[in-house]
Formats: sequence, C-alpha cells, structure tokens
Amino acid sequence: MPCAFKFPNGDTCNRPPMRKSRFCFGHDPKKKQQRLAIAKRTASLRYHASTDLHQQAQDLSDQISATEAGQDKPLETLRNLRARIDFVLEEIERLTHG
Ligand SMILES: [Zn+2]
Repeated sequence: MPCAFKFPNGDTCNRPPMRKSRFCFGHDPKKKQQRLAIAKRTASLRYHASTDLHQQAQDLSDQISATEAGQDKPLETLRNLRARIDFVLEEIERLTHG
C-alpha cells in the first residue's frame, strides 16, 4: 500500500510509506516538526550559498573592470578568473547534486 495521503484533487501520493506508518515522510503528521527543521536548514544553506556565489560573481566582474582600466595585469587576472570560475562551477555542482 502506498502512502495514504490524498491531495485536495483526490490524487494519491504513491510514495512508499515509512515503517509503522500509513504515510511517507513527506506526509506523516508526526514528522511535521522534523520536516520544518529540514526545510529551514535547506533554506539557510541555499541562502548562504547563493549569497556567496553572488559575491564571487561580483568580485569577478570588479576584477575585469580593474583589468580594463589597466590597474591589473591581464594574464594574472585571467588565471585568477579561471580559478574562481572553477570554484563557482564546483559549488554549483555540489548544490545541485547534493
Ligand atoms: Zn505521501
């Protein structure tokens, strides 16, 4: 028997229930606090990660501007940019694949 939860439109959930429960983890009323705690942690992680990535992108943009203005050495800037872009790509990979 799948999860006993029914959506407002009458559809059933179809996920497997947890042991000793008629519901899956996402629908068991007894797991509500635990679900909220997980949602908060996830939201917080996402928030910090996106803030960090935003900062990284801003730094890269600033660095390009400085190079264009002749304040930085172009080759050094390129190497630096490559390293930072690699880091951002790794972060995105980590975030999207857990
Ligand atoms: Zn369910």
